[in-house]
Amino acid sequence: GWPAVFDRASGSTMYTEDGREYLDFFSGAGALNYGHNHQDLLEPLLDYLRSGSITHSMDMHTPAKRKFLETFRDVILEPRGLDYKVMFPGPTGTNTVEAALKLARKVTGRQHVLSFTNAFHGMTLGALAVTGNSMKRQGAGVALTNSSKIPYDDYFDGETTDFHWLERVLADSGSGVDLPAAVIVETVQGEGGLNAARASWLRALSDLCKKHDILLIVDDVQAGCGRTGTFFSFEEAGIVPDIVCLSKSISGYGLPMALTLFRRELDVWGPGEHNGTFRGSNPAFVTATAALKRFWSDRENFEQQIAVRANQLHEGLARVAATTEGAVVRGRGLLAGVAFPDPSTAEKIAAASFERGLLVETSGPESEVLKLMPALTISTEDLARGLDILMEAVDASVGERELTAVS
Ligand SMILES: *Cc1c(COP(=O)(O)O)cnc(C)c1O
Repeated sequence: GWPAVFDRASGSTMYTEDGREYLDFFSGAGALNYGHNHQDLLEPLLDYLRSGSITHSMDMHTPAKRKFLETFRDVILEPRGLDYKVMFPGPTGTNTVEAALKLARKVTGRQHVLSFTNAFHGMTLGALAVTGNSMKRQGAGVALTNSSKIPYDDYFDGETTDFHWLERVLADSGSGVDLPAAVIVETVQGEGGLNAARASWLRALSDLCKKHDILLIVDDVQAGCGRTGTFFSFEEAGIVPDIVCLSKSISGYGLPMALTLFRRELDVWGPGEHNGTFRGSNPAFVTATAALKRFWSDRENFEQQIAVRANQLHEGLARVAATTEGAVVRGRGLLAGVAFPDPSTAEKIAAASFERGLLVETSGPESEVLKLMPALTISTEDLARGLDILMEAVDASVGERELTAVS
């Protein structure tokens, strides 16, 4: 909805073709965790493209793919004690979700999948069936079946014990709820309103899945790749999902790429059973490898930097929330925002921010949540400047609302 034509970008700044400058606190909805056009990713990409190497290889072997897989194993999987197989589905988030759902159904021989209220998993039919948003669901034009929605963490404001209903129906052969193949969950609901699950809730969910032999899929398409403070968003909870979906920032440069990770024993795919033309995009492997080496080789240092930025962001969000009665800070790490009681407030603030040179989006079923996703690599100065612009936009929007009420 931004009335501008964006022409160039660098780090956390975007420029329109008529020369206006915007601070980007949107980051391609999480596809640009390392900012725009990072030099340390651009150079290897340009070298690769000029070298005469392979661009498109589908599922053939290439040195760029080998390097990515080795780097992903050495920098991400092994240090975290994870022994996943890595699958390349099609290059988008919804593609990795489809692969995960299909695999879970094939492994278990069951059809039903449980997902959560306000979940967002993508726009193709399988992913849409496990998505909450009614407007997006209606776009399907056909029945969205084989899934049920269960309450996300704190859906009943703490009034109901976690998983009370689920534990009961799974234990009751008369409940009429078919044993599901899988439960799919986002640790922070990026599109659904920045609800962040507690670590203890995620652990209870993981235990429940194990107890009933249900596969646990974590959709880390948006919350992964460092957004919440660690490479995988579930590290804080100490759980090991059976299947993990990654996309958005895995290429690091905004190039399309996705991974589906799963426990070795779950690899029951026949050759070519789940294929796709654009699974082997070598330019994306090159930037992904460069991003893992540049940012995640020194994991502690980068996690520390994200934590410092996240504190700064959350302090700013607390100031924003303090302007309006009933407003609350939501989210985790650098995937955070403010939910307002009046559903029109967040969109007003986003529009006022745009007028002042700051790109922020909204989230939630009624766009009632102001959503901030600065790059993980943003400088403290740029982050402070963006938060100052945001406060001006908030003051202007709150003032505007009062005037409307008076007139
Ligand atoms: C964005 C997103 C998707 C879908 O990714 P696309 O690349 O838009 O298909 C799936 N799950 C989550 C959690 C997302 O944020």
